[in-house]
Amino acid sequence: MELPFAESWKIKMIEPIRKSTRNEREKWLKEADYNVFKLKAEQVYIDLLTDSGTGAMSDRQWAAMMIGDESYAGATSFFKMKDAINQITGFEYVLPTHQGRAAENVLFSCLVNEGDYVPGNSHFDTTKGHIESRKAFAIDCTIDEARNTQLELPFKGNVDIAKLEKVLSEHNEKIPFVIVTITNNTAGGQPVSMQNLREVHKLAKQYNKPVLFDSARFAENAYFIKIREKGYENKTIKEICREMFTYADGMTMSAKKDAIVNMGGFIATNIEDWYERAKVKGIVFEGYITYGGMNGRDMNALAVGLDENTEFENLETRIKQVEYLAARLDEFDIPYQRPAGGHAIFIDAPKVLTQVAKEEFPAQTLTVELYLEAGIRGCEIGYILADRDPVTRENRFEGNDFLRLAIPRRTYTNNHIDVIAVALKNVFDRRNSITRGVAIEWEAELMRHFTVKLKRL
Ligand SMILES: *Cc1c(COP(=O)(O)O)cnc(C)c1O
Repeated sequence: MELPFAESWKIKMIEPIRKSTRNEREKWLKEADYNVFKLKAEQVYIDLLTDSGTGAMSDRQWAAMMIGDESYAGATSFFKMKDAINQITGFEYVLPTHQGRAAENVLFSCLVNEGDYVPGNSHFDTTKGHIESRKAFAIDCTIDEARNTQLELPFKGNVDIAKLEKVLSEHNEKIPFVIVTITNNTAGGQPVSMQNLREVHKLAKQYNKPVLFDSARFAENAYFIKIREKGYENKTIKEICREMFTYADGMTMSAKKDAIVNMGGFIATNIEDWYERAKVKGIVFEGYITYGGMNGRDMNALAVGLDENTEFENLETRIKQVEYLAARLDEFDIPYQRPAGGHAIFIDAPKVLTQVAKEEFPAQTLTVELYLEAGIRGCEIGYILADRDPVTRENRFEGNDFLRLAIPRRTYTNNHIDVIAVALKNVFDRRNSITRGVAIEWEAELMRHFTVKLKRL
């Protein structure tokens, strides 16, 4: 008999978590204005709000933390991190920042001006925020198929080359760079193929435009290329990563994702001019150029995390757990963005809560119901997160309306995954009794989902 699949690690340290009663959760969620970001973590049993900074570090990472160099300038920790990034990405210049959005802030401060257009594939919310707050436009060129959640495609995060070409030709003068997000978080943690990265790069070069990768989950993207794209089955993850980054001129990185640290980020590039300009902004916003808001010990952990998480077994363990949750949901016919993404399952909320009007935010309503059911905290990646159109100030209902269940790396067991699946099934079974959603009582102008106040209708 073939041995079953199992994790490529064992557990050395645990952290207790606590269940709660439905009555407690009703009270806590009301106090939190039906916004799960405002819950206290201890009010949550299984936390799927994000996979960002919530992973479990390895014994090697913890060991590296003990020998962090906290020197203000020129710390060995910086050079360890820089070497790891050089080797994995091929980018020469490295500027640390305290997290991914800080990398965006620093780099976009140099590159994005009012009236610019930044084409890409489903810009992440902070990326969109950093573009729109500079009165520039984030133009989504993701393939149309990504919208159809039931369609199984191996690379549903891809850029539509025709859409990109249209933007490049119409707004050529006003485009500072093309951005490709790997994996495509907003479209459901869906990967971008090597062929697509190659084509985007080729087209961008025809128009003389640099390409930037928003690289938070580049290693998971490389895993999917190895598993799904012809010609890559025998390559190592590190070889695939090196090739991927040859199709970019630079990257912004949230190290809280695929480098499996609790906090950290960086900019890396081969464009000396980008680095020289970013350095100046980095010093103002983040700190000196060899720490940029990070502790020495965290840079050490980042270096080890990058190395570990560009090994096949680690990624396989992680992504198979996400696929296990997908298989459980299939048993119950619960609709989600297919196929399963790299870091999360994205439940297609309007297909579940068919009675809840879009103006009453089905995905947020489902997020509320799942928390009340079992103390599981998911996250709305939908109409609330989409913010209002900066010009018309109307809600944007064009995209998908997902409840995202993000799986932290190396944190929960498949027993927890079973609890999640059954809790969702219980909500799913009573879906037709859920007819009303939520209404906004107060919202911020940008990235409103973090602080929005809601009421239940
Ligand atoms: C998380 C994330 C960011 C922002 O990174 P932070 O570390 O949260 O600031 C940017 N892009 C993508 C695709 C992300 O997933």
